[in-house]
Amino acid sequence: MTIRHHPDFASLMGCAAGSQPEAFAAVIASHLSVCAECRAEVGRMEQIGVALFDALPPADVVSSAPVVAMRAGEAETGVIEEPRAARTGGDGPRGDIPGPLVAVLGARLDDLAWSWKAPGIWTHSVPLSVHADGELMLIKVAPGKKMPEHGHAGQELTIILRGSYTDKLGTFGVGDVADLDSDVEHTPIACPKEGCICLSAKDGKLRFTGSVARLLQPLIGI
Ligand SMILES: [Zn+2]
Repeated sequence: MTIRHHPDFASLMGCAAGSQPEAFAAVIASHLSVCAECRAEVGRMEQIGVALFDALPPADVVSSAPVVAMRAGEAETGVIEEPRAARTGGDGPRGDIPGPLVAVLGARLDDLAWSWKAPGIWTHSVPLSVHADGELMLIKVAPGKKMPEHGHAGQELTIILRGSYTDKLGTFGVGDVADLDSDVEHTPIACPKEGCICLSAKDGKLRFTGSVARLLQPLIGI
């Protein structure tokens, strides 16, 4: 697997800090399970975070009690826990669903129940925690299918799980991540041979720019 598109620095930093919404964390964890380069980067960020924490002056005992207790536990054992990123490796059963998601989705994309949304487009919603923000969805696009031009109401993180798609930013293949914000408008076209299946997290609805697509959006539901 040759990975050409990685998450932005800010997204990796959010992962290292543990501050990402659940849906985005799922996409990043899926990428880390196949990208040694980003795993190493997040590991470095986590080590820097630990060093900065250690450099902080002592704080109010009441407000920081749980954190102090955690650090005390590390001091007792003399071991700083393995970076979180290193624990996200994909060790699940063989299949094409990323290791971190196998417990929720099973191992094979072909075994999922897909909902038809529009000609050549199917989706499968991935359940999140009750109070989680955003949305996590698998999207399957038929070979050669061109998606309507659209922008994004917020951030969107997408990892390709099968096939590929091409837009003005390049071709995104298996393991690649498209890290898009509201500035980007694009018209992805799925691979003519294999189509494309991707896992997409977003914190806002897609914003279709064509008049027909805008009318259809409530029906498509993406
Ligand atoms: Zn990467």
